[in-house]
Amino acid sequence: MQRTDAEAGSPQVNPAAAPGFVCSICGEPSTRICVWCTKDACDNHICAKCSRCSDCCECELVRLSAEQPA
Ligand SMILES: [Zn+2]
Ligand SMILES: [Zn+2]
Ligand SMILES: [Zn+2]
Repeated sequence: MQRTDAEAGSPQVNPAAAPGFVCSICGEPSTRICVWCTKDACDNHICAKCSRCSDCCECELVRLSAEQPA
């Protein structure tokens, strides 16, 4: 009878390799934070122009007002 009870196959998650952030809006893994509120935001919810999350970004407001022809 042979028993190999010491198999080196135990799945181990390295806590140091955990993802940095999770988007506070949609919960997707994120690597950036809003520079304004410092909340986590994924690429979909962070503005590439101002690096703010969707809640803080004011680019849309500016764009809306600028959309109207003078
Ligand atoms: Zn998101
Ligand atoms: Zn924000
Ligand atoms: Zn913006």
